[in-house]
Amino acid sequence: MKWHEGGSIQYRIRTSLRARNLRLTISPREGLTVVAPRNFDPRRIPAIVERKRTWIEAHLRRFAEAAIGAEAAGKAGHREADALPDTLELPALGESWQIRYQPTNTRVVGVLAEEPERLTVYGAVSDHDACREVLKQWLRRRTREELVPWLDRLAAKNGFKFREALIRGPKTRWASCSAKGTINLSFKLLFLERHWVRCVLLHELCHTVCMNHSPRFWTLLGGLEPECREIQKRMRDGWKRVPAWVEKREGE
Ligand SMILES: [Zn+2]
Repeated sequence: MKWHEGGSIQYRIRTSLRARNLRLTISPREGLTVVAPRNFDPRRIPAIVERKRTWIEAHLRRFAEAAIGAEAAGKAGHREADALPDTLELPALGESWQIRYQPTNTRVVGVLAEEPERLTVYGAVSDHDACREVLKQWLRRRTREELVPWLDRLAAKNGFKFREALIRGPKTRWASCSAKGTINLSFKLLFLERHWVRCVLLHELCHTVCMNHSPRFWTLLGGLEPECREIQKRMRDGWKRVPAWVEKREGE
């Protein structure tokens, strides 16, 4: 199909065997199409297009604006998803960290806590995936440094024994306890209220003596902390507390 020009309006002509009259159609993808019956004299078309100019231009303008709007919205959405955090609120530890990104001439990315509640991410910081990765590693380290000793203290105080504690980051579990007595803690617990985390730790410790969620389990847990069952219900939308950048996969 060939492009024609009437004034400054471009259009193409399609001959239709069924069309009785000349028709103009406009679509965002194709622009203006003139559908002409067979035997229609093409020399008459420019004048017809010209008469419809206002109508045609209004449509073309609206399509162009919509396309620009969609592109801008797409870019903004991507920017937001790709943004790096400049703070880390960790209610579980009662800490609020400021993050600074310092480009240095190295190919790796590292993280330093030089002062209390001040983090510096340094290196090839234009690599956002790498920055998120070191921040997550740092969160895992904080979990090991803070939540594991807390788990130890709660175990000692209440007479529980567990084999070891591992730090993980699954998408839908805050913690778990294996039959062998390994307790897995998600580093995302750091984003929850301190008393919620306490309930999670007590919950897993109770599993070291009762693997299921039987009445016996709830009696045991309730004896340690009566509020736990209620808090667990509230924790179902606790995932909203986890910042979006944490769940972002590499290259997304
Ligand atoms: Zn459980």
